[in-house]
This record gives sequence, structure tokens and C-alpha cells, in this order.
Amino acid sequence: MSPELRKILHVDMDAFYVSVEEVLDPSLKGKPVVVGGDPEGRGVVAAASYAVRKYGVHSAMPIAKAKRLCPHAIFLRGSHRQYSEYSSKIFAILKQYSPLVEPMSMDEAFVDLTGCERLHGPVLTSAEKIRHEIYETLGLNASIGIASNKLMAKIASAYCKPSGMLWIAPGMEQRFLVPLSLQRIPGIGPKGGAELHRMGIKSVGDLARLPQDLLEQAYGKWGKSLYRKARGISDSVVVGEAEDPRSISRETTLETDSADSLFLESQLSYLTEKAASQLRENNLFAQTVTLKLRFSDFKTVTRSKTLDMPTAEDHVLFHTGVGLFHKLFTRRVRIRLIGIAFTSLTASPYLQEGLFDQKGGRCWDDLYRGIDRIRHKYGFKSLLRARSSRR
Ligand SMILES: [Mg+2]
Repeated sequence: MSPELRKILHVDMDAFYVSVEEVLDPSLKGKPVVVGGDPEGRGVVAAASYAVRKYGVHSAMPIAKAKRLCPHAIFLRGSHRQYSEYSSKIFAILKQYSPLVEPMSMDEAFVDLTGCERLHGPVLTSAEKIRHEIYETLGLNASIGIASNKLMAKIASAYCKPSGMLWIAPGMEQRFLVPLSLQRIPGIGPKGGAELHRMGIKSVGDLARLPQDLLEQAYGKWGKSLYRKARGISDSVVVGEAEDPRSISRETTLETDSADSLFLESQLSYLTEKAASQLRENNLFAQTVTLKLRFSDFKTVTRSKTLDMPTAEDHVLFHTGVGLFHKLFTRRVRIRLIGIAFTSLTASPYLQEGLFDQKGGRCWDDLYRGIDRIRHKYGFKSLLRARSSRR
């Protein structure tokens, strides 16, 4: 008996951050827009509109370079909160079509529609419905690749971008891949591509002509995976999302490396406030706090501490984080990146008996909920701890 033919979608939003910005401010439509760090600083491009891509700007490029390529572009810092709100709305739509939704990032997911036809109709109809629903409710364009495995679905969505839909029928994988350039295959990348080019392999078709043992001899494990990918073979399955996130974290690369501990503490305070508010937004409490530092020589260190009981209160989390900071920050080498992560997340801290009676416990809870409400209305920075605003 042949294994059941799977029906897998790869849903990928087009220029997601930029498109959200365009929905929020329609005057940006069609203009060269870059979302990312400070154009005078050394952050990277998080997203580039299609209009700015014509100038050679693309995501992950240093923002200073983007500014050189297109000085008249509109540079936006972006809002993580807005993007994650849109992201949850997209995932909520996808989950109406299948319980098997595997998020790959904020704006990208695999959806396994195998066996869902009786409920939602043929897979192509469902895919078009999804695209339509995302556009109608959120004003955002998605591209969808449809195939019988994740690898081909992903190749298809990248191929039909922007605002496209492409179905690669079972059995057609090899024929579709032959003329494509190697960069179309996930996992080859510019470095691998250059290496294969050097060997005279320029297209997926060239790659597919090489026998498996030769590829394995030359490239080991990578060679073996190339052999399979060139044929569109993949057996990785779509894994549904766990209900709760397993960690919540925030980190920042500093504009300039710093050894000023007051300044670093205030960065940490700000990151803690951000992450803690996300905890509360998800009705979660964290028991383990991890601090991460990257020094100017790129050495990265982390240290964790587990609390007696889970919490979502800024002052407890910050106190723990700053304690870890002073244990780690002893090298007198300047810091390039600082971050904080919360793990061992639970939905309720009140399981242990007697916690409710703790003096002040309820009061802090009310205070932080109040702060969250004000921020929701007036923006996150409308209310910051004095310590955080020293940044
Ligand atoms: Mg995308």
C-alpha cells in the first residue's frame, strides 16, 4: 500500500512588516519603505517593500547599506507588538482550516490539509479561501505553495511570490525543479551554491544528474540531502504548535558597545519590562530567568536562575536579571548585546496553597495589569520604570 499522499500548504506573507505598516498608514503604499533599526546605526533591515527592493535593498542587509542604496527610502523602526498581533490573527485563520499548523516564523507557516477535504473542499479551493480571508480581514497579501511535502510547498510559495498561488502536482516535482537555479532549494545558500558552481553544477537539473554515492563522497551528509532535495523528496512532517510558547525573550544589539553598567542595567530593565508585559499578555508566569551577554569580541555567555515560584512581575524578574548581570559582567570587556529570557512558563502561579495570602501579591498583580492597560491605549513607552528610561 502506498503511503497517503499528503496535501501541504506553505503560507508566506508578502513583505510582512512593511505590509502591516501600509495597512496602518495607507499613504506608505507603493513607496520605498524599510523596516529595521536606526538608519544611522548598525542594525539590519528586517523587511523591505517591493518598491525599495528595486534598489537592491533586501532583508538582513545592514541598514546603513540600505540607506546608501536608497537614501530617499522611508525608514521605520517597526512595532513588534503590532506585528505579533497581526501574526496571531493570521494563525487564527489558518487554524480554522486544519489543526496541523506549524509556524516557521511570525509570517510563515506550513498547514497540513490532508483529510480536511470533506470539511473545507478541495485543497486548491481551501488555499484560495485562506488567501482571500487573510486579505479581506487584515488587508495583507499571502503567497501559498501547495505540494505533497514541505520542501516542495516552500519552493512553490517562494516561486509564486508576491500574492501568488502555485500547486505542484504529485509526480511533477522533478520536472518542476530541473530548470531552477540552485538558490531555489532551501538549505543550499550562497556559500553552498558557490561551491557547487565551482564544480560546474548550475541548476537543480545538473545536481539531479549526479549519483548519490558521488555526492555523499564529496559532501557527506549534506551531499545525501542534496540528492534528495534535487528530486523534491522530503519526509519531514508538519508538527502542530504547542499551545503555549516555551520561552519569552527580548534582546538588543547596542548601537555602540558599552561597559557602562548603569546604562546596561537600564537596557536590561527596558527589555525585562517588554518581556514581562508579553508574559502577562499571554497569561503566563515564568520561573526561570536567563541573562545573555555578548561581548565586543563576540564571546557569548548566559546564566540562569530558577525562582522559588513563578511570577510575571517586572520588579522580581528585573531583580533576578540584574543579579545575574553582575555575576556575568566581570570581564571589563564591552558589551555588544544584552538579552533576557523567561522559561519554565506556567499558566497559573496560584497553584501552590497559600500564595494568595501572601502580603501584597494581589496588589502587584493589579498594578501591572493597570500598567498594561495604559500601554495598550497609549503605547508601550507611555509608562516606563525610571530605570528603563535612563537609556
Ligand atoms: Mg514572508
